[in-house]
Amino acid sequence: TDAALEKIKETIKTKSVELLHLQFVDIEGILKHVTVTAEQLEDVAAGKMMFDGSSIKGFSAINNSDLYLQPDLSTFAVLPWTEEEGYAEARFLCSAVNPDGTLFEGDTRNVLKKTVDRAAEQGYTISVGPELEFFLFQTDENGNPTTELSDNGGYFEPSPKDLGERVRLEIYRALKAMGFTIEASHHEVAEGQHELSFKYADALGAADKATTYKWVVKTVARKYGLHATFMPKPVAGINGSGMHVNMSFFKGNENAFFDPSDELQLSKEAYHFIAGLLVSVKSFAAVTNPLVNSYKRLVPGYEAPCYLAWSASNRSALIRIPAKRGLATRVELRCPDPSSNPYLTFAVIASAGLNGIEKELEAPASINEDIFHMTEEQRASAGIDSLPGSLKEAVEALEAGEIGRETLGDHVYNEYVSLKKAEWDSYRLAVHSWEVENYHSKF
Ligand code: GLU
Ligand code: MG
Ligand code: MG
Repeated sequence: TDAALEKIKETIKTKSVELLHLQFVDIEGILKHVTVTAEQLEDVAAGKMMFDGSSIKGFSAINNSDLYLQPDLSTFAVLPWTEEEGYAEARFLCSAVNPDGTLFEGDTRNVLKKTVDRAAEQGYTISVGPELEFFLFQTDENGNPTTELSDNGGYFEPSPKDLGERVRLEIYRALKAMGFTIEASHHEVAEGQHELSFKYADALGAADKATTYKWVVKTVARKYGLHATFMPKPVAGINGSGMHVNMSFFKGNENAFFDPSDELQLSKEAYHFIAGLLVSVKSFAAVTNPLVNSYKRLVPGYEAPCYLAWSASNRSALIRIPAKRGLATRVELRCPDPSSNPYLTFAVIASAGLNGIEKELEAPASINEDIFHMTEEQRASAGIDSLPGSLKEAVEALEAGEIGRETLGDHVYNEYVSLKKAEWDSYRLAVHSWEVENYHSKF
């Protein structure tokens, strides 16, 4: 880390970095930061920056609120949109640390670290490639988001239809400058919907990248007078936004999910992993799909899953095995959405998969028909269960299962459950515009 610190000092000098943002996320994965001057680098790197944990959602109680920020030096990045002659800003992603130097258990980045350690004890490193979709909306004259979409393009549609192309180009350049390898950038299926895909990384690195991506997308869109949203279903009747999570386990340099001798070239571990996800997904959905709105995406007909099945190709299944094999062999879980906290989402998925491997759970037969077009009876006789239909059901399943408490730890688990119950209650008590439209004049 001495060498890393020297390199950072050099960049600070050559790029004239004046300000450093120390970033971390709250329990919902929402980015926070405090800004210090570049002269404070030594103290900052030594973890001397204190903050008030009681003002961060899901963090500590008011009577025990002093926490410290420990920057992860590998996340240092100059912010391309701040650079001008003789001035720039940079950021670090940080972990929250208790005054006694131990990792603060209420910080979700630390929750993922624990799962990474658990995998390491079983001999695995976790590799993750998330795919985050988003919508661009127009803003009004005051700069506030409207519900007017930015364009009416469709899947892979080029300009001039796609006004978002210009924005995507700048997002691509910004992410690249911050160390991302961007694999593709395209218009998605729905009007105003977009996606840039980036190269997989280790679990913590991928969650850091997902967090950074959301921030950069929003920041760049704003520069063009657009509002980017990762809300899962912003418009009824068209596709929503997913965050498919591609995951594989490595043993050393070998992909532990690949076995050339198997019919599908998948290893025993891969099948156990799939089984582990299928067994636990209903109880971790409240984490991967955290909002009232998340469950309006998980309905048939919009490329989002709702039935518990896996397949080597089928996009209507919850779990798909993309065609690539060898080192790129991976399992794609299609239910998570980009409003979820990526640290918690990757933690529950990996932990469910590890349970599957540990208990040698047997994967059910794969389903290769279009599940959306099966009748309820056909699904029942094939033993195909469904995802929770609402946040309420999902929170009940989270409480009924073990995966949540086991993976999140008592602190985050308790905070999370009470947060989500309050969210559901607030929704339950609201009178929705649908109700007014359908009942107001009729009754
Ligand atoms: N937008 C779809 C979803 O809600 C996914 C489309 C795709 O396969 O990229 O998950
Ligand atoms: Mg997509
Ligand atoms: Mg995908």
